[in-house]
Amino acid sequence: MRALCWHGKKDVRVDHVPDPTIEHPRDAILTVSSCAICGSDLHLFDGFMPGMKSGDILGHEFMGEVMEVGR
Ligand SMILES: [Zn+2]
Repeated sequence: MRALCWHGKKDVRVDHVPDPTIEHPRDAILTVSSCAICGSDLHLFDGFMPGMKSGDILGHEFMGEVMEVGR
């Protein structure tokens, strides 16, 4: 799948990453249909969040169709 990945301060790219898998009983996998940017994404983009590693996937404001759920 494609995902927006953080590679450093003001360096984000759409990369090909492995498809997600269900790892925990409360996980869900969605096909994302639309997304938005929120203020916390800008903190990541501007490099103000410690602990980010190159390749981390961004995005937490989205909607889509649930394809699979955990137990
Ligand atoms: Zn948010």
